[in-house]
Amino acid sequence: MRIAVLGAGVIGITTAYQLMRDGHAVTVIDRESEAANFTSFGNAGLVTPGHAYAWASPRAPGMMLRSLYRGDQAIRLRPKLDLRQWRWTVGFLRQCTAERARENTINKTRLCRYSQAVLGEVVAATGVTYDRREGGILYFYRSPQSFEPAAAKADLLRSQGVEIQALDRAAAIARDPGLGAAANQIAGALFVPTDESGDCRKFTQGLAKVCADQGVVFRWHTKLTGLEAAGGEIARVLTDSAPVIADAYVVCLGVYAPHLLGPLGIHLPIYPVKGYSLTIPATDVSALPRHGGVDEDNLLAYCPMGNRLRVTATAEIAGYSNAYTPSDFAVMTERAKKLFPTGLDYARATHWAGLRPMTPTGMPVIDRSPYPNLWLNAGHGHIGWTMANGSARVLADLIAQRQPAIDQAGMRYGG
Ligand SMILES: Cc1cc2nc3c(=O)[nH]c(=O)nc-3n(C[C@H](O)[C@H](O)[C@H](O)COP(=O)(O)OP(=O)(O)OC[C@H]3O[C@@H](n4cnc5c(N)ncnc54)[C@H](O)[C@@H]3O)c2cc1C
Repeated sequence: MRIAVLGAGVIGITTAYQLMRDGHAVTVIDRESEAANFTSFGNAGLVTPGHAYAWASPRAPGMMLRSLYRGDQAIRLRPKLDLRQWRWTVGFLRQCTAERARENTINKTRLCRYSQAVLGEVVAATGVTYDRREGGILYFYRSPQSFEPAAAKADLLRSQGVEIQALDRAAAIARDPGLGAAANQIAGALFVPTDESGDCRKFTQGLAKVCADQGVVFRWHTKLTGLEAAGGEIARVLTDSAPVIADAYVVCLGVYAPHLLGPLGIHLPIYPVKGYSLTIPATDVSALPRHGGVDEDNLLAYCPMGNRLRVTATAEIAGYSNAYTPSDFAVMTERAKKLFPTGLDYARATHWAGLRPMTPTGMPVIDRSPYPNLWLNAGHGHIGWTMANGSARVLADLIAQRQPAIDQAGMRYGG
């Protein structure tokens, strides 16, 4: 089949790769000049089934409410005159019951674990390199009041097959001596030995090259402007240059998927949740943490990537702007300096902000749309690097009319 993949982030490129492997003639279309130039550019790099909790939880509404008058909340609502934002927020709040949070977490964990296994296969088959670091991720807590409930909550992920070790301060520092300077900030940690990390952008660009070498066609600098339907199917995709005609189309447009699909009456519950990212060159790589991790009380993620440290923070429900100013990074830079005071050149840090394509459940939509030749693979939220390879495999299996290897619960269109 001729298949057009719309979008060249980590989701589009992994999808193109799996479809190419199935023998399809694939064309990838993106307005950027290369792969992973939008949300997949500067994420935290954590491949983390051990952090697959749904963001919509009984604690989230209080955080969102407090964020209206306090700047220190992990999830921040910045209300806009934007109907999409209000619809999404209502949908998110509906998912905030204990029962929905549990079910969404179980669905996410299933997809994350499967996806990590597929990532391993893809790396073995292609040899793509991306500053991969296996051997675990450490999630640490600053007080017994935050650590103890988190250690108890981990039973849910354990029940889904994720190994999670609870460590006291000394054991956490022994596990990662790179946190030594921060020892007095740590009350306890959860260590997930099977989690891993790596540079999502490098991976995506490496895989795009593998795809190009094996015949996938890339149309860069091409803005998608619409999908044209005829006779109940998609007839062609319109762009700011020539239209593209294929037998099937896969939408992998992250936060912009609803924009292209809305005019067809396909409404995906995806809204941007903004985050900020710093990449700090190391002057002494031996001072970098051994493992990626999360400072859970501040929701500050960090990840050693070769001779750099990536640090990300913040979840702002604030519309489609990915603009930033230096002041947006002040608090996270101070926190990073307290955790990792030596061996890093903070003066040469590079800055970035990205828009997580969040659904209220935290699960992506991976399914056929009401148009039989139009497929959806979008809405991977805060954990799309982790979910990408498995999502792509599920989508390719659906197109091939094969039973996917995992249950599709939570990823169906409209359900
Ligand atoms: C701060 C931050 C930290 C994160 N940390 C992690 C992490 O540690 N682990 C993890 O698993 N995930 C993480 N994520 C989430 C992850 O980065 C995303 O889920 C993932 O990158 C989404 O990929 P995507 O391909 O769906 O979207 P994108 O990367 O945004 O790709 C969509 C593509 O569509 C293109 N496009 C859009 N509209 C058009 C159009 N009209 N015409 C042509 N092209 C178009 C864009 O140019 C883009 O290339 C993080 C995200 C952020 C923001």
